[in-house]
Amino acid sequence: MAENSNELMDKLVALCKRRGFIFQSSEIYGGINGFWDYGPLGVELKRNIKDAWWEDIVRKRDDMVGVDCSIIMNPKVWEASGHLAGFTDPMVDCKGCKARFRGDQFDLYETSKVPNIPAQVFATPVDAFNAFRDEQVRLDTRIIANPGMTTEELQSVYRRGTGRNRARIVLRGAGIFVADGKDCYQLTRIVNQPCKPGDKCPICGGDLTEARKFNMMFKTFVGAMEDSSAVAYLRPETAQGIFANYKNVLDTSRIKVPFGIAQIGKAFRNEINPRNYTFRSREFEQMEIEFFCHPNEADKWYEYWRDARFNWYVGLGLRSSRLRLRPHEKDELAFYARSCADIEYEFPFGISELEGVANRTDYDLTQHQKFSGKDMAYFDDDAWQTFLDQRKAEGKPELTKEEKTTLSSGSSFRYTPHVIEPSGGVDRATLAFLCEAYTEDQAPDEKGVMQSRTVMKFHPRLAPIKVAVFPLVKKEGMPEVADRIYRAAKKAGLAAFYDEKGAVGRRYRRQDEAGTPFCVTVDGQTLQDQTVTVRDRDSLKQDRIAADNVVPYVREKLSS
Ligand code: ATP
Repeated sequence: MAENSNELMDKLVALCKRRGFIFQSSEIYGGINGFWDYGPLGVELKRNIKDAWWEDIVRKRDDMVGVDCSIIMNPKVWEASGHLAGFTDPMVDCKGCKARFRGDQFDLYETSKVPNIPAQVFATPVDAFNAFRDEQVRLDTRIIANPGMTTEELQSVYRRGTGRNRARIVLRGAGIFVADGKDCYQLTRIVNQPCKPGDKCPICGGDLTEARKFNMMFKTFVGAMEDSSAVAYLRPETAQGIFANYKNVLDTSRIKVPFGIAQIGKAFRNEINPRNYTFRSREFEQMEIEFFCHPNEADKWYEYWRDARFNWYVGLGLRSSRLRLRPHEKDELAFYARSCADIEYEFPFGISELEGVANRTDYDLTQHQKFSGKDMAYFDDDAWQTFLDQRKAEGKPELTKEEKTTLSSGSSFRYTPHVIEPSGGVDRATLAFLCEAYTEDQAPDEKGVMQSRTVMKFHPRLAPIKVAVFPLVKKEGMPEVADRIYRAAKKAGLAAFYDEKGAVGRRYRRQDEAGTPFCVTVDGQTLQDQTVTVRDRDSLKQDRIAADNVVPYVREKLSS
């Protein structure tokens, strides 16, 4: 990671745009805050993350099945789940500049004198500053010259100016600074603090309103009438679709408790303050598991899933030194949760939640039972049969109908399962893998001279392109051989890319930025002995292998 976290974010955002990982949604119309689009490389990366999750969580296991539920559900679901009454965030507004903030995630600035930093200061106009607040277009901010003002003057411009005259003071790439030509002061953003009475607007220093509750569910209408009876909501989480289908799944598959239902899908939250690139968006994807188990086994399964989910990220290349498991304090737990831990990642903008794993007890099923009137209890047939067989083997008299009814309703046989919920965000995982992959190092060019390069060191399983194929030159039959190898790779289901344009060193650099783990080059020797070179993205080692062996070679490397 680059030393400076803002700088790293700037570079990553620029690379994501330049190379087609992530674009601002509806960018040609100025974008829309909190919505993002994935480009050709981004969609492959994101799909690979979802595929890896589905493969590891559903397909490889005996105790998991999947569902794909609708985004709009009967509004009663949200009444039962508590979202209608309680899915709120506190919202505060600035009475001066009208900026809006989340009252529990307030940013404050602390000023501290910075020794040994040249007091050179740049300022940006406020429109660029506002865009910067959403961390979207920082690289495009127009830097205007050091206005050469005193700290006080700069701060007053910062606070009171309007339009293009209002300036943010920034030492580019290194945070927010003010300087008086002699000393330099850093304004450190203290993020996610609860807003206290008397706190001022972090943008203009103005007075703030009191916090008001704001429900984050997006509302819509179903059907032609736009009245209260037609109101529906875009789901703010995928979990409730799973709970609503728990009985359907039990009745239609042979699965037995303990088992889990998994779902990947879109969720929508009208976040008060979307920020940190895709980290907090208004439309995003979740990958969620609801794992149903006997109440006595819930603690064991909670620990199992907490650790399994943590290790899943490590296995796909997120270094464990940047991941942390943060158990919730008692006062942080939802009233129905028995335990909960966040899997957090050290993003350049701070340590933040990637996934939450919670023991939700029987809260959700009980709520849906109450609101729908449908019985959500589970009857353990196997345990009941074993009990009857055992009685028989012991020569005990057959049970009467009444005895059977009473005994079979005991909690060893009939119970409402408890639920362990690992709930992760696809977009947050994608952002974490992008941050982790971003690397700057040195690699030799064609002449052997070391050049700095940017390389996305994705885990091969996640890399958008697995193999790129180049003819060294565009003649002597090399393009035809390279094209054959490229087609064979595509046919074998490998995401492959063909490139014959420009110097081969440049083509390597382009693939390094895309994170392609293997580059195959067809050269003069290929025409004589049908061998090609395969360059490893990370070690830069080149293997010479048979041209016919490219597909098995790459496949083996991907699975190792
Ligand atoms: P936060 O405290 O960051 O708002 P949360 O605790 O409300 O998150 P959950 O309701 O537990 O999040 O949602 C599960 C997962 O969904 C989160 O761990 C995160 O990965 C993802 N997620 C939630 N909200 C957003 C969002 N606004 N943008 C992107 N991903 C999100």
